[in-house]
Amino acid sequence: MNENAMRGLPAVHRLLSDPTVAGFEPSLGHEAVKAIAQGALERARAAILAGQHFDLERTLLADLENAAAAQLQPVVNATGILVHTNLGRAPLARAALDAAARIGAGYSNLEFDLGEGQRGSRYERVGARLARLFGAQDALVVNNCAAAVLLLLDTFARNRECIVARSELVEIGGGFRVPDVLERSGARLVEIGTTNKARLADVERALSPRTSLLLRTHRSNFSLAGFVEDLDSRELAALAQRSGVLLVEDLGSGALLDMTAFGLPRERTVAEALAEGVAVVAISGDKLFGGPQCGMLLGSTLALGRMRGNPLLRALRVDKTTLAMLDATARLHESDATRLEIPLYAMLSASIDELRRRGEAIVARIGQGRIVATRAAVGGGALPGATMDSVAIAIEESDADPFARRLRQARPPTIARIEEGRVLFDLRSVLPDEDAALADAIAASL
Ligand SMILES: *Cc1c(COP(=O)(O)O)cnc(C)c1O
Repeated sequence: MNENAMRGLPAVHRLLSDPTVAGFEPSLGHEAVKAIAQGALERARAAILAGQHFDLERTLLADLENAAAAQLQPVVNATGILVHTNLGRAPLARAALDAAARIGAGYSNLEFDLGEGQRGSRYERVGARLARLFGAQDALVVNNCAAAVLLLLDTFARNRECIVARSELVEIGGGFRVPDVLERSGARLVEIGTTNKARLADVERALSPRTSLLLRTHRSNFSLAGFVEDLDSRELAALAQRSGVLLVEDLGSGALLDMTAFGLPRERTVAEALAEGVAVVAISGDKLFGGPQCGMLLGSTLALGRMRGNPLLRALRVDKTTLAMLDATARLHESDATRLEIPLYAMLSASIDELRRRGEAIVARIGQGRIVATRAAVGGGALPGATMDSVAIAIEESDADPFARRLRQARPPTIARIEEGRVLFDLRSVLPDEDAALADAIAASL
């Protein structure tokens, strides 16, 4: 009986020639499909030896589907969270992708001065553009904002003291905690104030001959309300200057412009922070900037010069495609009209009428759901709690969770939001050219 069952198992090459199995090769590659088939066969043999029933075909298909779903692939973001860290943050502009292809496909003058015929700086070009754009003296680019903060602390606070308000002593996500990073750089963290209040007098009392940094951090991923008092950057900058210490700020998202233009709350811009006297700010490239993952350091030539001299910079540097994408995105920010070519800004500025029209077209196509008003969020630790008007397709499902699961397994995988038992597809975070795919994914999952 066992032997018959064992003999009945197909050879690997037979499994691989099955059209359904072979259909996974374009997405997974031949070797991965073969390894999965071999794994399923081994489990079938073990089950037969143990006298158990084993459905080889079903197991193999499930394994292949799981492996295909685990591949890095595009998804439709219908959560209404525009800068969604788990979904890859900012979608890139066409011009940025073209620039990456143009520079990435061949050689470039990345670190070569074409005029002098000798070694040049990889950061100079984009640095000058970013400095102009943000109104900073100088700019430097590293791998992400966490790396920018690391470089700041390592350069200025190593074996010195760094003053941080307890109300800003944050974990910025992914386990990156300011106190831990400080400890690694050999700096001593000096906490001031309480959870809800920090005053200039607290900072004055904490200053010592060993103090080198005053660090401020944007409360990107939480907010304080009620009995709250914050430090004033101008006063703090004046104190820093008088005491010969450096005031630096992790702005996280880093608004380039006044976001009230998009119906969002007022957010201090990078230029404002610098004008208030902050010596260096650190921001992310793939949050409100709408560009590739990177960290930008903006501020005084003197402070940035010290960071350029830190050997750690070598380990945090960005590659040519990132620089090409960053430069192209920065160019689009140079005028209000071209900024709308950055997908994040196209989504931020889409009108309610436009979102409603798109929603109605999808509802007409799938013959289900209704259009509801909702609130979308910038997300990604940008503007905590800030939401803006949006439009969603609402689908009533008695059991929303299995529906959401089917949507995640649809092609393309679609991530919706469950609210009060309804499944919402927020159109503000869906790119307009994904509408047809969204409609198909919903229809297939109903
Ligand atoms: C998001 C965020 C970071 C981390 O930025 P990455 O670019 O993801 O490294 C750091 N600080 C603040 C305040 C943030 O909001």
